[in-house]
Amino acid sequence: MISKKSVQSAWARSYLLVRAFKLIWDGIGGWIVLWFALLVIQGALPAVIVYLTKILVDRLAERIGAGTAMDMIEPILWPALFIGAIFVVQQGLQSILKWVRTAQSEYIQDHIKSLIHTQATRVDLEFYETPAFYDEMERANSQAEKHSVSLLENLGGVIQNGVTLIAIAALVVSYSLWLPAILIFSALPALWVVVRHNVKHHEWWKIVTEQRRKALYYDWILTSRFPAPEVRVFNLSAHFSHLYHMMRRSLRERRLSLLKSQYTAQLFAGMTALLMTGSVMVWMVLRALRGLATLGDIALLYQAFQQGQALMRSLLAHIGQLYTNILFLEHLFNFLDFTPRVMKPKTDAPFPVAPYGIEIRDVDFRYPGSEQLALKDFSISIPPGKTVAVVGPNGAGKSTLIKLVCRFYDPEKGHVLLNGTDVRDVSPRTLMDHITVLFQHWVNYAGSVADTIGLGEVTGGKQMDQVVEASKAGGVHEFIDRLPNGYDTQLDKQFKGGVDLSGGQWQRIALARAFYRQAPILLLDEPTSYMDPWEENKWLDRFFELVSERTAIIVTHRFTTARKADLIYVMEKGKVVQSGTHEELLAETGLYATCWNEQQSAGEKEAIRHVSKYAPDREFSGRQV
Ligand code: ADP
Repeated sequence: MISKKSVQSAWARSYLLVRAFKLIWDGIGGWIVLWFALLVIQGALPAVIVYLTKILVDRLAERIGAGTAMDMIEPILWPALFIGAIFVVQQGLQSILKWVRTAQSEYIQDHIKSLIHTQATRVDLEFYETPAFYDEMERANSQAEKHSVSLLENLGGVIQNGVTLIAIAALVVSYSLWLPAILIFSALPALWVVVRHNVKHHEWWKIVTEQRRKALYYDWILTSRFPAPEVRVFNLSAHFSHLYHMMRRSLRERRLSLLKSQYTAQLFAGMTALLMTGSVMVWMVLRALRGLATLGDIALLYQAFQQGQALMRSLLAHIGQLYTNILFLEHLFNFLDFTPRVMKPKTDAPFPVAPYGIEIRDVDFRYPGSEQLALKDFSISIPPGKTVAVVGPNGAGKSTLIKLVCRFYDPEKGHVLLNGTDVRDVSPRTLMDHITVLFQHWVNYAGSVADTIGLGEVTGGKQMDQVVEASKAGGVHEFIDRLPNGYDTQLDKQFKGGVDLSGGQWQRIALARAFYRQAPILLLDEPTSYMDPWEENKWLDRFFELVSERTAIIVTHRFTTARKADLIYVMEKGKVVQSGTHEELLAETGLYATCWNEQQSAGEKEAIRHVSKYAPDREFSGRQV
């Protein structure tokens, strides 16, 4: 009895098949029509050859010993010439088909890659923190292109082999009705092997996704530039090499054992098919001996069975693989079906007008998969056009605050407000267009210096004068001027002619990129972490001039950076514990004053003296918030 589950799963598979074809059609469209026509022609030709061979053999048999006069040769010549011409056409068709297949596979791969790229940049950041997402992305990324191309190949194989088989079956059915049936039955064991193995292989592959990712990760550590210095200093090569081989050994052993059982089953399937062909040939030879068949008939049947069985095996293999490819493509569809939680509202509220005041009100927030709240009953207010510093120990929740303002996540409770409008009521894209950020973990883009700074605002093309202004704001202009090709210098050594920079220089390039975007809201996470106190002070003076009308949040652990802000918030364990100006906070006994004194005695006295010489006279008081 067919169970409800198997009907559902058959339905799901057919749906997947339709979706897979739609994916292919979207990727290559018109190519399929040309390809289909070529396959039908290519599929029909072998049967024509088999039939012409029968005519040729029969005519030859009639004329054996009849001499080489032209009227004797002519009846043999025509089928021979036709066979020759078909071989030539087959060769030509094969080349054209190869080209069409390659073109199709290139188009389809690019189409799928672009779907994956769009989806990977659309999903919430939360997805990157979920192993299940990584698994599905790895499955989609590593296999989807290969399997969709392969699906196309299988489909082609099914069409071509199917056409040939139908034509061959039509030829042999005239000898006996059961001959086509034998042809089909002899290939059934092979089908069983293929389908069973493909399902097992897919299950194995799904189970070991995480192991494979780990193996790739160890491989990355051992062969990439970024971890290379630590691998040497800490002598990690043998350690990671061992982990890699452990992972690979378990993957390899399971795969080899799977293949062993597959090849053994294949051997038995092959034997069965051979036995059946042998029996049919014996039957035909006996018929010939009784005068019921000609030599041509034997030749036809031999060719038809040999080709027919090979075709049947290939057809079934294609069908089996078609099934597997669909199983694999399911992961691509699963990945493409992930819908972001941070969604555009049904109707956008009008976007507020600058300057922007930011308020986080009574927020509870925990990271996906995390038990602990990163922010609890958290409230903070950043007045319009002011620069606010957020200080506090590691893990206090400072960077989390920046992520919430960007709306990478939505809080469990409470609101993030922009001039009183909840950020959930405006389009996430419009919100991000109004923000520029220097992340704590910024990206070192490979490209020319000017291009990597220009990435701050890609719409409207790169404006060189603004790139220079931005790099001045980031405090990196003079350094760029000294590079071999100035702003045209290629960054990152992984590409030809590239130069590498120090951590601090990279950070300033990132800072310049943040400044290149003329956004009214500036969020800077530890912008001075790589600067020495003197550089920091110089940069801060310029910074406060630059941000004048903009709303800025600087997350920092340096009190020398914080002290110049209009307002300082001190955070601890996901809460604001103090707020005020530097002077006000120093006058209180609390975390700020304690840390300030500790930093001073930790050797920053000199820097602070230097800083105070330049400290601007800013009248704004945090108490007014
Ligand atoms: P800070 O910037 O003050 O050092 P964060 O905002 O980065 O602190 O982190 C606040 C808390 O959230 C910490 O307890 C940290 O461990 C946790 N946290 C940060 N990022 C993640 C994440 N992606 N997943 C889970 N927990 C996180």
